[in-house]
Amino acid sequence: ALLITDDCINCDVCEPECPNEAIYMGPEIYEIDPNKCTECVGHYEVPQCKEVCPVNCIPFNPAWRETPEQLLAKYERLQAEA
Ligand code: SF4
Repeated sequence: ALLITDDCINCDVCEPECPNEAIYMGPEIYEIDPNKCTECVGHYEVPQCKEVCPVNCIPFNPAWRETPEQLLAKYERLQAEA
């Protein structure tokens, strides 16, 4: 999963780009639900939020390292729930 750091300026551009609706406004800045973030696996070649963030504050979450296979399994679980 990806992570939004406290460099976030709340510009709102990433939230509509997420195909998994994993990005939401938290108490102070935007946040990413790691249970929903597939790093865009299943949807796009690269994470769309990272592409659009003007301050480059969306790194990989070191606490949620996942393999491509795990990300694809998450994608399939989310599709089944939708
Ligand atoms: Fe924050 Fe970057 Fe998203 Fe803008 S694009 S809301 S700066 S994480």
